[in-house]
Amino acid sequence: MKYTSTRSNETVNASLAILNGLAKDGGLYVPESIPTLDLNALKDTSYQSLAFEILSLFLDDFNKEDLKQTINSAYNENNFSHESITGLRKYNDNTYFLELFYGKTSAFKDQALSLYPYLLKLAMKEHDIDHLSILTATSGDTGKAAMEAISDVEGLSIAVLFPKDGTSFIQKLQMQSQKGNNVYPLAIEGNFDDAQSAVKEFFLKHQDLPITSANSINIARLLPQIVYYYDLVHRLNTVKPINVYVPTGNFGNILAAFIAKEMGLPIQKLIVCTNNNNVLYEFFKTGVYDISTKTFEVTHSPSMDILISSNLERMLYFMFKDKEKVAGWMEDLKNKKRFQLSKSELQKLQETFDTQMCTNECTYEAIQEVYEASNILIDPHTATALPQDESEALNVIVSTASPYKFPKLYNKLFNLNSKDDFYILNKIDELTDEPYPPFIKELETIDVRFNQNIKLEEIESVLKEFIIKEAKL
Ligand SMILES: *Cc1c(COP(=O)(O)O)cnc(C)c1O
Repeated sequence: MKYTSTRSNETVNASLAILNGLAKDGGLYVPESIPTLDLNALKDTSYQSLAFEILSLFLDDFNKEDLKQTINSAYNENNFSHESITGLRKYNDNTYFLELFYGKTSAFKDQALSLYPYLLKLAMKEHDIDHLSILTATSGDTGKAAMEAISDVEGLSIAVLFPKDGTSFIQKLQMQSQKGNNVYPLAIEGNFDDAQSAVKEFFLKHQDLPITSANSINIARLLPQIVYYYDLVHRLNTVKPINVYVPTGNFGNILAAFIAKEMGLPIQKLIVCTNNNNVLYEFFKTGVYDISTKTFEVTHSPSMDILISSNLERMLYFMFKDKEKVAGWMEDLKNKKRFQLSKSELQKLQETFDTQMCTNECTYEAIQEVYEASNILIDPHTATALPQDESEALNVIVSTASPYKFPKLYNKLFNLNSKDDFYILNKIDELTDEPYPPFIKELETIDVRFNQNIKLEEIESVLKEFIIKEAKL
């Protein structure tokens, strides 16, 4: 399987696609074709076995034994507190929650990032690379999950850029207390888009440095996410059509669902769920992606606060298979801050995708509604994905984070009147059936190791210094 850029004919093998992260022309790597996999033809349907079947299709030049070992090292009881890796919880007759937050950092990013360092090491071995620094922009969850996975792994170091006021208190504390001698969380004086742009720019400018990215632009992030959609359909075991509601930011999670559908998995509709930062909602309604009129808002669901949704580019490529067009759209987005599909292109998108948006008020009400109806406490990201329309299908809401990561709203829900996040978390533990994740509980007494803020214009020199020190250049 070869990987090619969404914007030009640049083509590499899987290990180079993982090492490079972003294509040289600024595009994203995509597999040259999407393989098919019939769920019914599989005998062993354990999570690990599904992961192996799926990943060996996409990473066919990796040694099969290495791949198997890698998968077993990532998906086990040390890294996931749910015996099935993910949870599947019934909400009502037509609705389930697919819970993706049983990894070490309590957000769905653990699903891919617990595998990521192993894949990276295999790719490095193939190319005789001793040391790599990973640069990652985060709105809170990716950075922590990546640092947790990479902490003290030999041959790897990681710097994480996050908006100093754009994450939850718990997310920030998780990052600033990260253990390990090869980790470097950096609070920047800007928002998530500033962080993401700074990282992208750094990559394009410093292609000579030994660096890669753990952001969801890396195919090593994307591919492992296909697995839980296969696992979901297997566990649902239904003849009803299945619709999947995905809280969406950078479009990585829902893109994995799209690829699974293209591989032959019976999913009917994919619903792109947004918060008040609704550029994707407008795009799927009108075919116009326009950030020229938008300002970035900080919402109850910070991991979805985004204007430029990187992985959308991959979906546009898969949908229309026209690199020139994709390159043109991305050029328009860069220069005119907008691009536009034709009517027929929009129609084609809408055959597969639907969309909904949920304001802060809607988010709170959804949490309240679900709790009152079922005693299930959902997090604010998951809340944006509560179906807003009736349908005949079986609806699956993708639960992307544990409620313990985002305690603010439960203060009001449970009338606690507290400003102390840990008091709120302990109350959640007391009042609900949701288990208090041990890696969040330990934050109550943990030491902050990193607390400096850096200005946007300092990012380049700070990163350069870090890379040179870590790689011993
Ligand atoms: C990252 C994240 C999202 C958005 O996922 P994308 O793959 O970027 O669309 C949603 N919810 C939570 C909790 C996240 O951490």
